[in-house]
Amino acid sequence: MARCAGCKRHRKKCSERCVLAPHFPSTDPHKFEIVHRVFGTRHILKTLQGMEADQRIDAVNSMVYEASIRLKDPVHGCATQVQQLQKQIVELKSQLAATQAEVVKKSLEKDELLALLIGGYQNDGEHVFCEVQTTDNLTVDDVEELWKPLWEE
Ligand SMILES: [Zn+2]
Repeated sequence: MARCAGCKRHRKKCSERCVLAPHFPSTDPHKFEIVHRVFGTRHILKTLQGMEADQRIDAVNSMVYEASIRLKDPVHGCATQVQQLQKQIVELKSQLAATQAEVVKKSLEKDELLALLIGGYQNDGEHVFCEVQTTDNLTVDDVEELWKPLWEE
């Protein structure tokens, strides 16, 4: 049997039960090398042996990703990526809330127009006014409160 990249790197015999073999083929020694440099072979083996076989591919992909980032940015590693993604989440949540506020506002405007069209307005002799609540003072916080049950599903 051909040795996997891990066994080849450590000049060991590779077996069919080698946990590295399915993830680190000898045709891609760089993949094992970067993970080995950052985490060490002992840690990689301990991690993979401590989980079910079907979870190992995700663990390997995660280690390869983190190792490649850490080699480029040894000080911060993935922390920079995490911060950027968290910032993006905050921005997207804000955009979502603004869009939902606009949807609610348009929906209420539609209701006002429908009320006018179907006669749901009142006339006090001087003014014609609608029974439907206006949306002029609607804030993003109000809309977040309205949409909260949907977000928490
Ligand atoms: Zn091996």
